[in-house]
Amino acid sequence: MTTSASLPAGPVTEGSGGETVTDRLVEANRRYAAQFTDPGMDARPVLHVAVVACMDARLDLHKALGLELGDCHTIRNAGGVVTDDTIRSLTISQRALGTRTVILIHHTGCGLESLTEDFRHELEDEVGQRPAWAVEAFRDVDQDVRQSMQRVRTNPFLPHKDDVRGFVFDVHTGLLREIDPAS
Ligand SMILES: [Zn+2]
Repeated sequence: MTTSASLPAGPVTEGSGGETVTDRLVEANRRYAAQFTDPGMDARPVLHVAVVACMDARLDLHKALGLELGDCHTIRNAGGVVTDDTIRSLTISQRALGTRTVILIHHTGCGLESLTEDFRHELEDEVGQRPAWAVEAFRDVDQDVRQSMQRVRTNPFLPHKDDVRGFVFDVHTGLLREIDPAS
């Protein structure tokens, strides 16, 4: 597998006018702000829940879970893995912003299933430096959800660990499948 060397250089442009994707998004934001009404919320999530999920583009967390603006914290990374940085966010979420429930969401067809820790060695070969982070690749998505639940439940920094549930989102049906932590 090639790594960053295979990515195109420079900004991605749209078909006409030389407008980049970022330009398009900034323009969409202007339209959004023009319609926006400040709901006057504070920063504490209304439902007291933090959702840890994969960054996958096919997973629209708010639509898939019926969430509204202000309802939850969303913490996303490649795989929805519980890394040290995920724990950092969850600790702040629980201790400073009042969340009590943790929901973990992996999904079918995750890009991490096609990677291995060799990815780190390929990076090292290419740039002369091996990243300090683990790739956190996995083969068994159910088992990875169990491991993520376990990492949350055993973490000393988190005060609320009795309501932690894990799921696999099916990108073809849109349905969540709950993972039994004990099996
Ligand atoms: Zn994924």
